[in-house]
Amino acid sequence: MRILVLEDAKSTQLLIRKRLEKEGHSVEVVDNGHQGFLLASSVIFDVILTDISMPFWDGFKFIEAIGVVSPHMPIVILSSRSDELEVRQRLRKYKTIVGILPKPFDFDTLFSILKSVRVQTHHTINKKSRIVCTLGPASSSPEILGRMILAGMDVARLNFSHGTYEDHEAVLATLRQAESLWEKPVAVLQDLCGPKIRTGRMKDGGAELLPGKQIVIQAAERDGTAECISTITPEILKDLRKDDPILLDDGLLELRVVEEGEERVVCEVVVGGLLKSGKGINLPATSLSLPSITEKDWRDLDWGLNHSVDYVALSFVRSPEEILSIKEYIRKSGKRDLRVIAKIEKPEAVRDIREIISVSDGIMVARGDMGVELPAARVPRIQQEIIKLCWQNNKPVITATQMLDSMTTFSRPTRAEVTDVSVAIKEGTDAVMLSQETATGRDPVNVVRTMAEIICEEERYSGMSVEEYKQLMDDSTANPVITAAASLRNAAAVMLFDPKGHLYPVLSKWNRTIVSILITRSEHVARHASLYKNIIPLVIREELDREHMLEKAVETARKSGYIRAEDTVAVLYGEGVTGCDIRQIGALQLIKV
Ligand code: PGA
Ligand code: MN
Repeated sequence: MRILVLEDAKSTQLLIRKRLEKEGHSVEVVDNGHQGFLLASSVIFDVILTDISMPFWDGFKFIEAIGVVSPHMPIVILSSRSDELEVRQRLRKYKTIVGILPKPFDFDTLFSILKSVRVQTHHTINKKSRIVCTLGPASSSPEILGRMILAGMDVARLNFSHGTYEDHEAVLATLRQAESLWEKPVAVLQDLCGPKIRTGRMKDGGAELLPGKQIVIQAAERDGTAECISTITPEILKDLRKDDPILLDDGLLELRVVEEGEERVVCEVVVGGLLKSGKGINLPATSLSLPSITEKDWRDLDWGLNHSVDYVALSFVRSPEEILSIKEYIRKSGKRDLRVIAKIEKPEAVRDIREIISVSDGIMVARGDMGVELPAARVPRIQQEIIKLCWQNNKPVITATQMLDSMTTFSRPTRAEVTDVSVAIKEGTDAVMLSQETATGRDPVNVVRTMAEIICEEERYSGMSVEEYKQLMDDSTANPVITAAASLRNAAAVMLFDPKGHLYPVLSKWNRTIVSILITRSEHVARHASLYKNIIPLVIREELDREHMLEKAVETARKSGYIRAEDTVAVLYGEGVTGCDIRQIGALQLIKV
């Protein structure tokens, strides 16, 4: 059997290892719960033996965490506290505990427990790509948010199309608590809704529109019927021209303009169906005079500047100028380093994608609206192109919408969804996004876990192509220290010291195979880095000199399970000054843990 042992006393570690190995088991031993959790999420084990009292993460914290990623993993407790009533009562909660042994324990009892354990297949979650989760009513409690972090959430998205400031404030505070409890940085992405056009309220909640019938869209608010509806943005009416298509509810229904007018526009129903209240309106052929950033967006942005938000995304971006004006506003406010992501969903944005990428801090391929504004059949190719361009330009990219949509109501994804996630990973996306699956779905933790499994499976086959390797060698813009580290083949991990946070994006671009640990003193750098592929941020707050910092970093990375004894680690430094006052461009040091 493959056995993981969590035990802090060295002598006990040695004894258990010897006896188990003598019986023919393969054994890994770690010192604490956090190490055990990371190891158990990246290596496959059949059973786990764990102490309760350990430094850093204790046994209870470990059992909680492992229950999220491997809900069926059998656990045996080895503890000198096993006869305490309180301990027994707390352990009783966990169904996966197959035995509790007092210390010192009898090996024969342990062997008979191990014999009864059924060996099963387990999945791994040690992923390199990132998961963005939209938060909502299904994912706002401290327990669920904590479990989502353990299952692999790296970025939490607050969708400003819904909810009040109070709602967002509450969920943000809860998320930050869960983040510190589980000691993993999480970036917060505020999603501004932009000029999202919607229909007004409908009488009795909805009406059936019949093909061939006429329907009026009027400026004055009213409860809509099959003959006449209103819109929450009546300014669009004056922009509509005869024969313009009007798509409703993600393109499920279609109208065509037959008579223009500022107060009322007469249309004909082309594709009918049930129209409910407040559904999206897309106008792919109309040039709109609406501002791209609405009054509400500016107010929401102010909210973001005053809260612990790391990224802000703008919907329906049409030109690079909109991104620049948001960046200028953020800069002038002097409040925080809020990074700006452009959501690509309009034909204009697809056309000017290069310019938009160059001014943005990140890109979201917003496939939902894109598939309505443009023929849906074009979305896959556009996605692939954007991911490639973002990689070339070193900007993080999120592939979004409907990735595991059916899991909003079902506990397993469709095979087509699994393939979709896997394709996005293969294409090189930094992150994949969950929308209603985690915001309102039946089991957000299960959705994140499923996504992590799909990512891990695909990443087993990822590596640098010959073409990419050639590009790496030719990249004269990257710091040579990154180029050198990315071409190392025998290091177990790369450890990057990047106080200003300038180098990690380049490392993320070029090193997508060896685990990259980013050591930083700043929580903000750590959160921003959480959107980049294969960057594991570790925050060390102390101000130490180079040697002591390295010592502390190695110890922390070891304690957290990212590196192990005898590992070769490539340590990277960027620009600086050496002890003898020589200007340093970069430094690469190979160490043995
Ligand atoms: P939304 O953006 O969920 O805010 O509409 C994503 C998309 O359109 O795909
Ligand atoms: Mn959208």
